[in-house]
Amino acid sequence: MATIHIPPISFQHDHPYPKLHSKTNISGININNNNNYEDKIRNFSDHPALSLLDKCTQMMQLKQIHAHMLRLGLFFHPYSASRLLTTSALSPTKNIEYAHKLFDQIPHPNIYSYNTLIRAHASGPDPKQSFFLFSQMLNQGLHSPNKFTFPFLIKAASELSALKEGKVVHGMAVKTGLHSDVFILNSLIHFYASCLSLDLAYKVFVKIPHRDVVSWNSVITAFAQGDRPEAALDLFREMEAENMKPNDVTMVSVLSACAKTGDLEFGRWVHCYIVRNEIRTELILSNAILDMYTKCGSLEDAHNMFDKMLARDSVSWTTMLVCYAKSGDFTAARHFFDAIPSRDIASWNALISAYEQSGQPKEALALFNELQLGDSKPDHVTLVSVLSACSQLGAMDLGQWIHTYIKKHNFRLNFHLITSLIDMYSKCGDLEKALEIFQSARKKDVFVWSAMIAGLAMHGRGEAAIDLFLQMQKDTVSPNDVTFTNVLCACSHAGLVEMGKLYFSQMLPIYGIAPKAEHYGCMVDILGRAGRLEEALELIEKMTIPPLASVWGALLGACTIHGNLELGEHACNRLLELEPRNDGAYVLLSNIFAKRGKWDDVTRLRKMMKDIGLKKEPGCSSIEVDGVIHEFLVGDISHPLSVKIYSKLEEIAGRLKSVGFEPNRSQVLQDVEEEEAKEQALNLHSEKLAIAFGLISTGPRAPIRIVKNLRVCGDCHSAAKLISTLYNREIVLRDRYRFHHFKNGSCSCMDYW
Ligand code: ZN
Ligand code: ZN
Repeated sequence: MATIHIPPISFQHDHPYPKLHSKTNISGININNNNNYEDKIRNFSDHPALSLLDKCTQMMQLKQIHAHMLRLGLFFHPYSASRLLTTSALSPTKNIEYAHKLFDQIPHPNIYSYNTLIRAHASGPDPKQSFFLFSQMLNQGLHSPNKFTFPFLIKAASELSALKEGKVVHGMAVKTGLHSDVFILNSLIHFYASCLSLDLAYKVFVKIPHRDVVSWNSVITAFAQGDRPEAALDLFREMEAENMKPNDVTMVSVLSACAKTGDLEFGRWVHCYIVRNEIRTELILSNAILDMYTKCGSLEDAHNMFDKMLARDSVSWTTMLVCYAKSGDFTAARHFFDAIPSRDIASWNALISAYEQSGQPKEALALFNELQLGDSKPDHVTLVSVLSACSQLGAMDLGQWIHTYIKKHNFRLNFHLITSLIDMYSKCGDLEKALEIFQSARKKDVFVWSAMIAGLAMHGRGEAAIDLFLQMQKDTVSPNDVTFTNVLCACSHAGLVEMGKLYFSQMLPIYGIAPKAEHYGCMVDILGRAGRLEEALELIEKMTIPPLASVWGALLGACTIHGNLELGEHACNRLLELEPRNDGAYVLLSNIFAKRGKWDDVTRLRKMMKDIGLKKEPGCSSIEVDGVIHEFLVGDISHPLSVKIYSKLEEIAGRLKSVGFEPNRSQVLQDVEEEEAKEQALNLHSEKLAIAFGLISTGPRAPIRIVKNLRVCGDCHSAAKLISTLYNREIVLRDRYRFHHFKNGSCSCMDYW
């Protein structure tokens, strides 16, 4: 253990005049005033015990000095006590708890000591303490806050996003006559921005009499980070016009605003501007340029920048990796990843989440396995990504394994992880487990609530979802636009038409959330499913924003269910105007034709698809058995157990026929391209292959969980219902839109999907 040699005591009082390091100390407080008492105290300033404080590297050493100072009586002089306090509160060896205890022992803490501890707490784990100290100081009435007290208090308020408290501090600063102190005003800009009150931040900014570069930086950063990138760029132009020279900090914020607008041209201009004006380009700024090119989607510019960089750190490598993945070239991304000199968890996370978000969940999970073999340890970000990959695959065993992993490694369950776990269990078909996690979470943010509402919605528990929506508001959590999508989705899946209309109509007037295209899509879905097709069309025609393809898609889907040929064709045409290569639209329309027995039109549509070289996304069903995902395409014979699967299928077909099951021939185009023997083709649908495989490879009472990439077809739906009785098996099938729980011959969707 390191100890410090403490020199013998010499009588420092003998020194005629103290030597001062400087007139101001680290908090910028002038300690060189005319008070005689203070002069005497300064006699201690070059006491060896005090100069040792600067050399302290361990808490242990600090405690020794503290003990020594107590013995010498040095501690009872405010100046030396405040030196000790500063070291324990602000130095690299700091220990705020110890500092606070020390502070409580100081007989008459001076304003400098108060400021020191207020400052330490403001950036410590419990910023509220800054306010407690402040009120303690006011109550004692010995000191008035000075211009150094306020910025630290404002910092504490920013950390807490405590708008009310911050406003009070702002008011006090004004009353104290410090309303034009640029340091205080700059911290107020930052504070209001951190409370998302950009307008208040701007108000402070415009009132600053002599703005310095920090003022400009604060306001530009506020707008860039507060999702008003255009305003940030306007402010930058204004700064230019006022001949205020920007620095590297300004440019980092300007680049982040460019990245958000995605304006590559302007981004290039900013890059040139930096070079032309010879702005100090350290690593942070180079990385910001790289990040801007990545977010604006220019692999070429990013690559040029990366090559030119004199120094690179983990952030540079990771950003470049993201750029490769974003360009869609995953082979190049993987090569680049392998070439990273010292990969840290951030680089792993970048590639794992890139795979996961580009619909390659299997690759994401494979990389996660690779990660565990190396030195890097997964963090919260990794786990959120892999849980989402499990959700996409419906890989419950894997998801559960990750849940156990989280518990075993004592990961703190933050909102992101809770949300991901709820989402994973819901999407893997275990709603009960999702509810369990939801209920055991002590605190819930809007995303946790929304995820649970979505879980209930996709399992057809519409009423329960609405109950939760009401309960959430009782808990004073305000819904956001995601919540509303999920609530409307719940109404749609459960056929709650009036409820859906009610909440949709309340969105803007009561909750201040303007309906987006997805909300209109849900509403069209709700009306359409209920057969109120004209009303749905009216809603689309009255939309205040241009309808996206998804909105027409919802109407087309409803027309398929209700066999409305005219409106269906109309919706399909509008949809194809927006998305000419939407294979789903062709399939849905051809389903309407097939339902009406218009086989000529079906053939015509198929020819059209062929002519423009459009291929229907092949149906694919996957099933997880013992942690391994098995995938089946239509008519797939690639599985090693193919022979067994097909003989099981024959057996199933025989048993279905024996109870009078009639194949539904109108569903053929759902999955096959070419004219084939229709009945046989139906038997080869991917979900049937997966069910057959599930029956032969899982225990007799285990539920069979299947995930299908497209909407389940009517024939497979009817077959699955019967299979659930004939084989006494629960089948949980997740299709593109919802869950189907087949049990005892019926489905949880009530044949409504
Ligand atoms: Zn089918
Ligand atoms: Zn169903």
